[in-house]
Amino acid sequence: MLRRVGGLLLACAIASGVTPAQAQSSSFLERRVIGTSVMGKPIEAVRLGTKGGVVVVVVGVIHGNEAAGLLITDKLQESVVPKGIDLWIVPTMNPDGTALDQRGNANQVDLNRNFPYNWAKMGKPGYWQFAGKSKASEPETKAIVAFMREIKPALGIWYHQDLNIISPGTGLEAKCAPPIRDSRAFRSSELRAVSTQALQPLGSGAV
Ligand SMILES: [Zn+2]
Repeated sequence: MLRRVGGLLLACAIASGVTPAQAQSSSFLERRVIGTSVMGKPIEAVRLGTKGGVVVVVVGVIHGNEAAGLLITDKLQESVVPKGIDLWIVPTMNPDGTALDQRGNANQVDLNRNFPYNWAKMGKPGYWQFAGKSKASEPETKAIVAFMREIKPALGIWYHQDLNIISPGTGLEAKCAPPIRDSRAFRSSELRAVSTQALQPLGSGAV
């Protein structure tokens, strides 16, 4: 899975005109707290790479009981970032869910259903996809929305634990997404396990 992330970052670098030969050691730029959870835990972000480059953001965890992304965000912080990539890493945007090993935040809100875009009422506390009382009702959602509006990523990678599925988005990441789909990295053996069907955007599935 880590190699897959590297491939995606590399593909984004290629899309931005950066060749693999130009890849250099990652450089730490900054670490900051972008918000606070319901329980008062900090939501942290780490920035590596080339300031002013193509902005890529990787979010390791949004659903607290899908924490394997933390292994990736830990490794990414030690990895080589291709030159020209302005990489932001948010290990978890749901630190309460991560601590409690539960899908939602401390209010039992599914943060992936709480974003303001296309928000709709869904369930109530206790329902696994409870969307919250209103759009962006949760402090974690407000924090990550404000952060994304600030950094304006060309590519966002969000980790879940749905086996062998890559779910391309349809939003702001469009600048990088098409070249990635066509790139050699995306057709590499590491990704052959991903079915054509799995590459289609998902609706309101299990992610
Ligand atoms: Zn998930």
